[in-house]
Amino acid sequence: MTLVLELREVTRVYRQGSMAVPALRGVSLAVHRGEFVAIMGPSGSGKSTLMNLIGCLDRPTSGVYVLNGRDVSRMTDDERADVRNREVGFVFQTFNLLPRLTALKNVEMPMIYAGVSRAERWERAEAALGRVGLAHRLPHLPAELSGGEQQRAAIARALVNRPAILLADEPTGNLDSRSGAEILAAVEALNTSGMTVIMVTHDREVAEHSQRIVTLRDGLIVGDEEVSPQSAATRRTGPTDSPRLTPRRNGRAFPLALPLARTWRTVLGSGEVLAIALDALRGNRLRTVLTTLGVIIGVAAVIALVSVGQTARSSVVGEFANLGPDLLWVLPGKAKEGSSFGSAEEGRLSLTYEDAQALGRAGELVAGVAPVLQTQIQISASARKYTTTIVGTTPDLREVRSLRVQEGRYLNAGDLTRRKRVAVLGATLAEALFRSPRAAIGRRFVLSGRAFDVVGVLAPEGAILGFDLDDRAYIPFTTAQQIFNLNYATFLFVRASDPAMVPRVKRETERILLHEHRGEEDFTVLTQSQLLGSLDAILRILTVALSSIAGISLVVGGIGIMNIMLVSVTERTREIGIRKAIGARSVTILTQFLIEAVAISLVGGFLGMVLGLTGSWMLSVRLFQSVPTVASIAPIVALAFTFSAAVGVVFGVYPAWRAAQLDPVEALRYE
Ligand code: ADP
Repeated sequence: MTLVLELREVTRVYRQGSMAVPALRGVSLAVHRGEFVAIMGPSGSGKSTLMNLIGCLDRPTSGVYVLNGRDVSRMTDDERADVRNREVGFVFQTFNLLPRLTALKNVEMPMIYAGVSRAERWERAEAALGRVGLAHRLPHLPAELSGGEQQRAAIARALVNRPAILLADEPTGNLDSRSGAEILAAVEALNTSGMTVIMVTHDREVAEHSQRIVTLRDGLIVGDEEVSPQSAATRRTGPTDSPRLTPRRNGRAFPLALPLARTWRTVLGSGEVLAIALDALRGNRLRTVLTTLGVIIGVAAVIALVSVGQTARSSVVGEFANLGPDLLWVLPGKAKEGSSFGSAEEGRLSLTYEDAQALGRAGELVAGVAPVLQTQIQISASARKYTTTIVGTTPDLREVRSLRVQEGRYLNAGDLTRRKRVAVLGATLAEALFRSPRAAIGRRFVLSGRAFDVVGVLAPEGAILGFDLDDRAYIPFTTAQQIFNLNYATFLFVRASDPAMVPRVKRETERILLHEHRGEEDFTVLTQSQLLGSLDAILRILTVALSSIAGISLVVGGIGIMNIMLVSVTERTREIGIRKAIGARSVTILTQFLIEAVAISLVGGFLGMVLGLTGSWMLSVRLFQSVPTVASIAPIVALAFTFSAAVGVVFGVYPAWRAAQLDPVEALRYE
């Protein structure tokens, strides 16, 4: 007779704090192919511990366990998972079916972990359920089956990978006597057809259905007796079984050195683990939706801000570029190290009309100079109040800024010298006050209690940084000085005669102003490229800062995933134990949970992206009158997917690892 398994001086000692609890204290046992062994003994004698060792759910503390010619005590976790999957079939007292799966799917599960094709799985699962009399129960969930039916489904599951041994731990313990008898008959029939059976029971009558009774007490075998052939024979009344139940692999050494390819196929290739993971998510809809929401908000916020920031940068830079590359700004105050902007304290203005005149005499390098004294103020026309920007300047501004007159005339030298109360309006202001540019000519408005005549209206210019350049009134610089009682200009415009001359004009301007200000450098000359660079830098910093804040919400979303996955692992500890008992490798469990986390974050990432893009589109249109381009969206889409997948992996990996590390015996005990 062939030896199926042999235990030599096996011990198993549990550690409880500093205490050592010996559950098995040197057990030696040999079981031959085709035997039906019952293990008996009082509660706490070590029966379950022995079964767990034989079933490769646990490792001996010392001693040797040889199964089908191979030393199990030296196997890796994966190898033992494969043994559980293919070489042993487990039947538990509490059935241990996966509650959310149908009977058919439960029976398919060990074959999924073995990498059996879908078509073959169906056929074999159906046949196995048919043999235990459950052909009509395939689509039912465990909760819809009676105890006896559940145990029969569990037997079908145990047999479906054609194991060498059937291990049954009190298989009738939770059943009424009739169902118990049925189960026993089924087990006996299996044994008759050649299956090796080891069954734990505390019931002598049940044990007498076997051929051999091994008795344990205090972790030692104290009895090993043959059941008298008569008593066994009279009891052997169960239905004879179909030949298909015969284990096929009699005598063959089982293939443990399974190639990596199989792991790949079972874990990912078959798509079954994906299906299992998605199924689990569907089982907890509200929780899944709420967790996904966290990611949606995070991704949407990041995308909206990055995208709006980009649009802002490109449109603002475009607006300033439109002013012309040959324009220079002279601002009051000295620029700090590393910043191109002046840092004039409030009210500390330093530039004057005379400065502008001195620059105007600089020669042919400079095409024009215009001082600007600018402020926001309320004016009124026809009893209507309106807040706008008043720009006090000289006639030269027209050249310097390339302003175009649409109606009437621009400011002239006479207006300036005689401090006339005349104004040229921007198009927006003209329309707001007088309905149309044409209607504005010759009309009046009141500024600081003084009436101004409108002499002209400019052609529309557009907006910069969201400020409407056409919502303003230009008045003579001298008039503005008088009205605002101020001897300074807010800033000066200098226009170079040629864009290529800008650096020289900048140096020349600085030299002249330094001379005018008696060596005090209380001004800053900015070229357009400097200004654009600074603006771009500011906007970039702003975008990065805002996106980082939004990124934090993505991290919060990730923590939500982690939290829920940890809860889920705890809740599903028993499920994980069952999956491991029927042969799922650690990496398969890890993958299953990781897929759950990544699925949540990817779905959240996709929806968040849609939301974020929609939001940024609307914002861009409102704020900058421009829409994001496909070229600017493409990297964002890539970013969203990379980000959300990364969030799923980063925050899913720890819970998944915890699930994968669970000890199957402990997990199966978990209530
Ligand atoms: P039986 O199945 O015969 O009731 P067990 O194999 O379950 O016996 O237990 C044998 C002994 O080992 C008992 O004293 C039990 O308390 C102890 N034991 C079992 N599992 C553990 C464990 N995980 N940690 C500590 N002690 C354990």
